[in-house]
Order: sequence, then C-alpha cells, then structure tokens
Amino acid sequence: MSYKEIKIFEYMHKYDYENVFICNDNSTGLKAVIVIHDTTLGPAAGGCRMWKYDNELDAIHDAMRLARAMTYKYAAAGRELGGGKMVIIGDPKRDKTEALLRAAGRFIERLGGLYSTGTDVGTDLNDMVNIYKETRYVITLPRSYGGAGDISPATAFGIVESMKIGAKKVFGSESLNGLKVSVQGLGKVGSEVVKLLDKLGAKVIVCDISDEQVNKISKEYDVKVVEPDKIYEENADIFSPNALGGILNFDTLKKLKVKLVAGGANNQLESETVGDELHRKGILYLPDYVVNSGGTVYDTYRLFHNVHNHEFAIEEVGNLIRQNIQKIIEISEENEIPTYLAADRLAEERIKGAAKARGIRIPNERRWYW
Ligand code: NAD
Repeated sequence: MSYKEIKIFEYMHKYDYENVFICNDNSTGLKAVIVIHDTTLGPAAGGCRMWKYDNELDAIHDAMRLARAMTYKYAAAGRELGGGKMVIIGDPKRDKTEALLRAAGRFIERLGGLYSTGTDVGTDLNDMVNIYKETRYVITLPRSYGGAGDISPATAFGIVESMKIGAKKVFGSESLNGLKVSVQGLGKVGSEVVKLLDKLGAKVIVCDISDEQVNKISKEYDVKVVEPDKIYEENADIFSPNALGGILNFDTLKKLKVKLVAGGANNQLESETVGDELHRKGILYLPDYVVNSGGTVYDTYRLFHNVHNHEFAIEEVGNLIRQNIQKIIEISEENEIPTYLAADRLAEERIKGAAKARGIRIPNERRWYW
C-alpha cells in the first residue's frame, strides 16, 4: 500500500491499531501525531521522531508503522510495554524550539501515561529534557535526570551477545576470537561494536561513508578498512550491519560470503523474500529488532525497577537478548521457518499469552513487515 493510498480506518482495522491522536498547537506551530498500536502488554512506549514529511499522510503512516514495530520490539524483548510512537512534522534543524517541544510534552501528559516517549531520528537527549518539563512520561533522559543517558553502548552490547549465540549455532562455539567480522557503519552503535569485538579477539573489517569515523576507529583499533560498497564481498564469517536499512537485498545477497548476520541497523531486510532467501542459503540472519533491542531494554530498566542501575540493566540486556535469540533459533528450526518469522511468532505468542492471562481480547495474528 503506498503512503498516498492509505485509508486510516481500514489500515487501523487491518493491523489492529488502538488510537491515532492528531495534535495541533497554533501558538508554537506544533503539528504532531501520536499513535498507540497495542497496549496488551502494557502502556505504549516508543521514540519521538521529528522529520520534514512531504505530506501529512506520510507522517501519519510513518508514526503508525513505527508504533507497530515497537509492539513487536517490546514483546520480543520480553518487556511489559505496548507499541507507540510520536511524530513531529518539521525540520529538526530549523523548526525545533523549546516551546514546540514543550507543547509536544503537554499532549503526551494529556494521555496520562498511555504513551511514554524517547529519542528517535531528529530528536536527542536535550529535546527530551524540554519535553520532560511538561510531562513525566519521558523514558530516555540524561543520567542527571535519573535516566539511562546514552543507550548506544547497551545496543552494541546486545548485538555482540546475539552474535555469540549465533556463533555457537553456526561455528560451534560462542567465542568470537579469530573470527572475521565485517562491520558496516561506525557511528554510535558500530564504533562500540568494534570496541567490543576487538576486546574479544575478532578480526574486524570496517567501512563508513564518513572518513572522519573511519580515521577515528582505525587509529584506535587494529582493523582492516574497506570502501563502503566493498564490505559485502569481504571474506568474513559474520556481517554486522550498523548503518542503514534495506542493505540485505538480492544484490548484496549475491556478494555475501558470511554464515551469520547480526547487526543493529533497523529494517535490514529489503523484503520478506530476502529473509526467505537467507534461510534457503543457510545464512543465519538474527532478526534486527531483537538484536538491537539492548538500548531499549537498558533504557526501560528503571520503569520496572524504579531507579536506573547500569550494572543490573546491562545484565538484564545480556540475559534477555541471549534467551530471545536462542528461542528464535529454536522456533526457526522446529518449524522450519526463517528467523525473521520466528521472531514475529515469539512476539505474537507473548502478546497472546498476556492477553489470555488477563482475560482480555486476543489480538489477531499479525506481522510487522508489510
Ligand atoms: P549513527 O548515525 O550514529 O551512525 C550511522 C553510521 O553509519 C554513520 O557513521 C554513517 O556515516 C554511517 N553510514 C551511513 N551510510 C553508510 C553506508 N552506506 N555505508 C557505511 N556506513 C554508512 O547511528 P547509530 O545510532 O549508530 O545507529 C545505527 C543503526 O542502528 C541505525 O539503523 C539505527 O536506527 C539503529 N539503531 C540504533 C540504536 C542506538 O542505540 N543508537 C538502537 C537501535 C537501532
């Protein structure tokens, strides 16, 4: 369905959405959408994106798509939270003001805890502090505000723990020592992945479109640097995409020589058929939204334990991600289905289980890619 053709109620019905709130504030110029996809597991949470959308329908659709992805992410991660998302229409470089963010905060507050927010594309920790001036329902906050601060190291930690479980399955041992790992993207997540892999004795191959990032990493670690378009062809054991979505497609699949894919980038599969093909070729693909859930689990730790504790939160990230990846591999094997489907099934089973336990409606079978 193209964005332009989306019929809101039809779409809500098809994918079982609960609410779409359209927010307007004339005095600050705020135009925003808050979407609640599913609150079976708990109140909705998900980041606040600020983006200059071409039209309003694109913004609504993006918020809907992202909110639903959060339902799956939390469910698969084992967090008692539902899926939600906020989208602010505007150029984050030009249109972002304290007043606008505070207005966004007031709309969140009005929902009384139905939705809690965090950072996403176009928003950062400073923006969260401004939103927090108007509402308690902000998860991602600096440490000085009782939050978890930068969550990228926790995301990277989760990626490497996933990799270990995948390596056990594919190479017979969790040890990454001596394995060749190609890392695409050396930003907040990728650079931390390299740091951890280096410590574990992996042979790391890196690329980034930013020379600055490449120079920084190659000065600090003993890595092989390749051009961004050459990363797929590397004779590596593991591929870790930590830059863009859609990088697993029929073009790159022809070049990939690895046996395992485990990275933090969102929406790595260009389409479901690529996931099917990876499965057919015997490449173990560890589903992105489970592999990269470390930051989310770390960030939401304090919601369930009242206070943030780095040591315990990191321990929880490791335990949850390792269990989930193991479970996904088992579901995939037992049912002879690709791992991306196994992850969806794990998430759906958790939602259904919670619904049954509470005697509330059991949501329709649903899928997160469409
Ligand atoms: P970032 O913007 O800090 O880093 C991305 C890096 O990728 C940049 O250095 C950029 O130059 C590089 N890049 C862009 N296009 C490239 C290409 N074609 N080839 C090689 N490098 C390229 O972002 P991040 O926070 O590190 O996030 C990376 C990915 O992980 C994103 O897809 C993000 O959505 C996802 N993710 C991040 C987190 C987190 O905690 N930050 C959590 C979950 C998912």
